Amino acid sequence: MDSSQPRTGQGSRLLLVVAAALVDADRRILLARRPEGKALAGLWEFPGGKLHPGERPEQGLARELAEELGIDACVSCMQPLAFASHAYEDFHLLMPLFVCRRWDGIVTPREGQTLAWAFARELRKYPMPPADAPLIDPLIALLG
Ligand code: C5P
Repeated sequence: MDSSQPRTGQGSRLLLVVAAALVDADRRILLARRPEGKALAGLWEFPGGKLHPGERPEQGLARELAEELGIDACVSCMQPLAFASHAYEDFHLLMPLFVCRRWDGIVTPREGQTLAWAFARELRKYPMPPADAPLIDPLIALLG
């Protein structure tokens, strides 16, 4: 077993991903469609990615949003909303979701993703990875 990776108590690999609900002035939320060639291609996710060693979650999320979307998110304005925990076949994903309402720059797909802005009540129309789907209810509770 590779000892460099964190493990759950059951021995499966633990993956820590941070995700953002970018909320615009109309209370719409940004979704990104995972491109062909990636795991779960075609599904819609909250943007974000893996934390680098030593990064605080908000810092890592700001880095991912800059890389993926070309924006400079306000780190001190990010609000933790919910925590996804899902056992995939070969790893266990832990994924906090932060609400981000303030950023500089224009949201631009930098990695070939298709983007969509949706109201919270519309999110169920978008097929999502199993880890992301439980995050919809807290967003509806927050944004209506
Ligand atoms: O984005 P990336 O491929 O680095 O993410 C690693 C894994 O985490 C994905 O293969 C997917 O299983 C999971 N993931 C997810 N929901 C996200 C982001 C990643 O389920 N929003």
